Amino acid sequence: MRGGRSRLKLAAMSSIPKPSQEPRPAFGTVLAPTMTLARFQNGAWGRFETVPCAPIQLHPAAHVLHYASTCFEGFKAYRWADGSINVFRMDRHIERMRQSARSLVLPEPDPRQLEEMVRTAIERNRDVVPEAPGALYMRPILFGTTPNIGAAGAPATEADLIVLASPVWDYFAGGMKPLRIYVEDINARTASQTGKVKTGGNYAAALGPTLEARRRYNVDQVLFCPGGSVQETGASNFLLLREGRVLTRSLDLTFLHGVTRDSVLTLAREEGYQVEERVFDVAEMLEWVRNGEAALSGTAAVLAGVGAFIHHGEEHRVGSGEVGPHTRKLRERLVSIQRGESRDTHGWITRI
Ligand SMILES: *Cc1c(COP(=O)(O)O)cnc(C)c1O
Repeated sequence: MRGGRSRLKLAAMSSIPKPSQEPRPAFGTVLAPTMTLARFQNGAWGRFETVPCAPIQLHPAAHVLHYASTCFEGFKAYRWADGSINVFRMDRHIERMRQSARSLVLPEPDPRQLEEMVRTAIERNRDVVPEAPGALYMRPILFGTTPNIGAAGAPATEADLIVLASPVWDYFAGGMKPLRIYVEDINARTASQTGKVKTGGNYAAALGPTLEARRRYNVDQVLFCPGGSVQETGASNFLLLREGRVLTRSLDLTFLHGVTRDSVLTLAREEGYQVEERVFDVAEMLEWVRNGEAALSGTAAVLAGVGAFIHHGEEHRVGSGEVGPHTRKLRERLVSIQRGESRDTHGWITRI
């Protein structure tokens, strides 16, 4: 392990707990030993390097440290029963990283180079990919490194692109516990024009309100509904479900366009659900959940059921208060494709 002050651990083969062993390390706290790194300088990307996962050199005047020129991605590689390693919807995540870079006027990663960097990071860390339901969580990051503290109004002309890998175990080690969610119906998670960008500042902005709601109401997450219009939580999209129907907000600039959201909606349509993508408000949501279901979607949590909402100081139970059958069914459909237990009819899987 490097960096005495850091609580991060580097994974070694012997330190990877088997699925049956307890306790499992928290999501993101263990890093795989190898990462890939590319630099953008003089208007072009250089060849990438494969290096130990360790501290990097960064000038204190680096653009990212002052003006938050940074974006990231998150997706998973799964070890299948046949021993092969398979990535879920890698192309969509690479494309979203490029979109985020464009929005922030950062150098756009070359899609072929980034794919090669992801493949190499997986191959070199193959030994530490946990068994299902664990996975190797891939975390590409891009940030402006130009040393210039006067560049608030100018883009970074130099940048680093790094692909980190982190062995993760089941998010729901304690079983599928229904979530408690605080409904924030005044403030937004982010500025509306950066809602769909996976950029660091958005998470820093959501942290204060989320910790405050945790402290006051003992909730797991905050559902942001600025002006009463339902959007998403700090790091997950939001869906309503019931017999034959799924409702979620239609895509716009104000929230993150999740790959899990898209996958769940695709599978729901195939299962015969009528999928509605439109704007809806808190009143309609609270009416829906009296005998319907609500869930959060994202790479880390897959599809996580909501048990209760706290709104204007009042608790509203969602259905029976347990994770409902439609949430369970769609979660199972998705997970079985990710683990290679059902056929991938959509071209979502890339074998490494
Ligand atoms: C990453 C993220 C999601 C989920 O996206 P997936 O592609 O499904 O992992 C949803 N909302 C926010 C704010 C996110 O950062």
